[in-house]
Amino acid sequence: AARLCSGAGGEAEAAGGAGTMLRHLARKLRASGPVTVAEYMREALTNPGQGYYTRRGGVGESGDFITSPEISQVFGELIGIWYISEWMAMGKPSTFQLVELGPGRGTLTEDILRVFKQLSSVLSKCDVSVHLVEVSPKLSEMQAAMLTGGKVQPSPEDESAYMKGISKTGIPIFWYRDIQDVPPGYSFYLAHEFFDALPIHKFQRTEKGWREVLVDIDPEVPDQLRFVLSPSRTPATQNFIQPEETRDHVEVCPEAGVIVQRLASRIEKDGGAALVADYGHDGTKTDTFRGFRNHKLHDVLSAPGTADLTADVDFSYLRKMAQGKTATLGPIKQREFLKNMGIDLRLQVLLQNSGDTATREQLLHSYDMLMNPEKMGDCFNFFALLPHHRVVHPDKKDKPESKSPLPPVAGFYELLLK
Ligand code: SAH
Repeated sequence: AARLCSGAGGEAEAAGGAGTMLRHLARKLRASGPVTVAEYMREALTNPGQGYYTRRGGVGESGDFITSPEISQVFGELIGIWYISEWMAMGKPSTFQLVELGPGRGTLTEDILRVFKQLSSVLSKCDVSVHLVEVSPKLSEMQAAMLTGGKVQPSPEDESAYMKGISKTGIPIFWYRDIQDVPPGYSFYLAHEFFDALPIHKFQRTEKGWREVLVDIDPEVPDQLRFVLSPSRTPATQNFIQPEETRDHVEVCPEAGVIVQRLASRIEKDGGAALVADYGHDGTKTDTFRGFRNHKLHDVLSAPGTADLTADVDFSYLRKMAQGKTATLGPIKQREFLKNMGIDLRLQVLLQNSGDTATREQLLHSYDMLMNPEKMGDCFNFFALLPHHRVVHPDKKDKPESKSPLPPVAGFYELLLK
C-alpha cells in the first residue's frame, strides 16, 4: 500500500521498546523542557546518528512506504519527458543540471536518465549533469549503487559535493547535503515526496489566542511522549500565522518555504524550472501529521526514529514563498498531470509489447495505483515554478506581440509533441 492520503495519528502501536532515540529525546526534554514539533520531527528523521532516514531509509516495497516511482517506471519516464519538453520550449539551452531533492533509492532519476538516453538524438548537443541533494548516507549509497553501479568517489573537503560518480549512461552525478551547495547554472529541479518530510510547526487556536503544539515527556508514564500546548505565544506563533487565518489548527513548514525561496531565486537568475510532486492541499487542511511503519499508520510519538513522519504539503504556502520571483502552476492532481503527459498512450504501447499475462496485469495494477482517485490519483499533486516569460497568460494569447506563442506547459496542459 502507498502512504495514505488523509487521516492523522492512526492506531497507536505499543512504543517499540525505549530505543536510543527515545532515551536521547527523553533526556533532552527532562533537562530543557518541551520542544516544537519541528524540532522533534527533525531529530526523528534526520538526526545524524539515529534519524529514520539516516539509518533506515524506508522507501520501497520492503521499507515502510512506497512511492509512485517505485510503483511504475512509467511515472519517471513521463517526468523525464516533462523536462525534455520544457528544455525544448525554453529554446534548447546548451547545458542543464538536473537537480533532485531527496532522491530516495534513486529510482526516479534512473527512469529519467533512461529517457534522456532513449532521446539522446534530441539531447545530443546538450551537456547534462545530475545533482542529488541527500542528507542520508545510507540512501546516498543506495542511489550510487542504482545509478552508477557503485562506481563513486568521495569528493575532497574543499569541494561542495561530498561524493561524485558517473551514471551508467555516462552522465556525471554529484551529491550534496544542501541545495545551497549545488553550483549555480541553468537547472531543472525535482522534488518528489521531499517537502512532506521536512519539519512542520503545529498551531492550535485557543480562547487565549494561538498556541504552539509542543512535544513533552509524559510525567505519568516513563519514556512516553505526549503533546502539550505552549503556555503563551511562541516566536513561531507570531511569525507564521497569518492575521486572516480562519482555521483552528494550522501546520507550517518554514524549511519548505526557505527552499522554495532558493529555488525561485535560482530559476529567476539562471533559468530552468522546478517540478514539485507531493500529497498536499491548497491551504485548507488542518491536522495531517502522521507516521508510517511497515506500510501502516504509526503513532507519531511512539518509537521515534523507527517510522517515517510526514505532513501534507501546503501548496498555497509554497506559492506565497516563491514571492513572485517565478510564475507558479498547480497544484494539479496526479491523475490529471499524468493523463496530460500521455500515460494512457504509454500504457497501450507497453501492453501491446508485453507477451505474458503477468506483466500485463502488473502494468494495469500499477496504472490503477497511480491514477485511481481512491489511491494516488487524487491526493498527490503536481506544482511547478517557471520563469515568468515561460507562462503564456490566456489574456495575452491574441495580442499581436505574441505571434509565436510558446507551447503550453506539459502536464498542466496537454503535451504537444512536435
Ligand atoms: N523522492 C523519493 C524519496 C522520498 S523520501 C521517492 O519519491 O521515492 C524523502 C527523501 O528526502 C529521502 O531521500 C530523505 O533522505 C530525503 N531527505 C529528508 N530530509 C532531507 C533534508 N532535510 N535534506 C535533504 N534530503 C532530505
